[in-house]
This record gives sequence, C-alpha cells and structure tokens, in this order.
Amino acid sequence: MKFNVITLMPELIKSTMSYGVVGSSFSKNICNLNIVNPRDFTSDVHQTIDDRPFGGGDGMLMMVEPLEKSLKSLNLQTNEDVYFLSPQGEKFNDSLSKEWSQKKELTLICGRYGGVDQRFLVKNKIKEISIGDYVLSGGELGAAVIMDSVIRKIPGVLGHSSSADQDSFSGEGFLESPYFTRPREYEGLSVPEKLLSGDHKKVEEYRYISSVLVTLAKRPDLLRDKIIEWEVVKEALHAMSEEEAFVCGFDKKDLTGKIKKVDV
Ligand code: SAM
Repeated sequence: MKFNVITLMPELIKSTMSYGVVGSSFSKNICNLNIVNPRDFTSDVHQTIDDRPFGGGDGMLMMVEPLEKSLKSLNLQTNEDVYFLSPQGEKFNDSLSKEWSQKKELTLICGRYGGVDQRFLVKNKIKEISIGDYVLSGGELGAAVIMDSVIRKIPGVLGHSSSADQDSFSGEGFLESPYFTRPREYEGLSVPEKLLSGDHKKVEEYRYISSVLVTLAKRPDLLRDKIIEWEVVKEALHAMSEEEAFVCGFDKKDLTGKIKKVDV
C-alpha cells in the first residue's frame, strides 16, 4: 500500500514510521511512503507557506497554492482517497482503519498553524478526518496514528501469532480479553486455569467470555446491538473465583450487578 503524506515536517512522519512492525512494513516493501513538502512548491526566496487570515484572528494559515501544487505533483486520478487531517472531520475508528487497509493508495494532508485556506479543501473536494475531539498543533501525529493503525491491518504486516483480528474492536467488536505470560504464578497471582489447560476449546471459551466481561466492565457502549450468549457469560462469571476475576482485572460484584441489568 502506498501512503502519500503532504507535510511541512517530513522528519516527524519519517521518524514515527520507522519503528516496530510499522517500520518493517516499509523496509519489507509491503508499504511505501512518499512524503511531499509544500515548501518545495513555493515561489519566493523565503519559501513562504503561510499568511495571516483575512478578517483577523490569531495565527497564520497555510496558503492554497503550495498545497494544491503538492497535491497535483502526486498525479492522482481522483481525490477519493485524499484526506485532510482536521479536528472538524469524521472521526477515525477501527472500521475505517479496516476499510482503508484494503486501499492501494492513501493520501494524508497535514495542516499546521491555524489550518489551511478553506478554498484548498472545497476546490479539490477533500474530505476531512479527525483522530478525536481535541486540537493538536499539526496533522502529523494524526497521520501517524492513522497510518500505524491501517498498516497493522494489512495482511503480512503482523506475524501469525499476533493477528490484528484478535485486537480490541476487531472481529465481533469487543475489547480484547486479558492476556498473561510466564511465570504462571507471580506473588500469589495465578494465571487463569483454563489458559493453562492446553484445551483449545476451553481457551477459546475463556477468551470469548472474558472479552465480553472486559467490554462490559470498561466499554459497555460497545455491547449495544450485539448478539451475546448472556446465559453462558453469566454462568461463567458465577463460576469464577474472586481471585480469578481479580487477576483478569474484573470486579466480580460489580460485573454481576451489571449483567443483571442487561436483558439476559
Ligand atoms: N484552528 C483549527 C480548528 O480549530 O479547527 C485547528 C488548527 S490545528 C492548531 C493545526 C492542524 O492540526 C490542523 O489543521 C489539523 O491538520 C491538525 N489537527 C489538529 N487537531 C486534530 C485532530 N483532532 N485530528 C486531526 N488533525 C488535527
């Protein structure tokens, strides 16, 4: 997959994209990074990129022309897969991440200062994408967040053992179940028995139940409209010792109360 990033801070993108599985996806050529700096498309000696807003107001704005020339330099057939990072955009989430991971090419434009001259967006029919309801100083960190999340979902990027399908929000849309590694016991805290059984069915059942429970505990909103085997979950919680619930990060009493309120 090819990522085009239009940014005044190429180093910020390059450095954030150089670590871990994301970094490997570029070194293995599963992904491609093409950075365009609007400063290279200015026409004055000072390479001016910004100017004061008409009507006054704080800060500066990125001017249309260098941005438009940057975009044109990409020779895209359409602007369908071009997004401007903006706190005013549609909020990025896991399902968009999955959808975008199937694209061949994605172009992200990073604003700086007070943002961009609106005409750049309307003239080029560019959609806006936000990473959350807060304001950052620039779009680069947002672009990095989006690329990281999309790249994880591209087949071949993650090894078999850590498939993105198991991550929170993926698959059925629950949070991921709690995981443990060696030692089996640490200062009196034991790994749940079912995970040690070697019985795949039991492990799968444990993961399903604890994933529903962790979602009920932390993000009950994600369970809305989901078909859940509540009777099975309820029974499993009932059978769970206080200690096992604690190790999993659950408060048994609190969850028992919450399950009662669910229409089982
Ligand atoms: N004045 C703008 C507003 O209030 O809508 C915010 C400008 S912000 C200081 C500078 C740039 O950071 C934006 O143009 C955008 O590219 C990026 N940015 C800030 N917050 C963001 C967010 N939540 N998601 C995506 N990009 C963001």
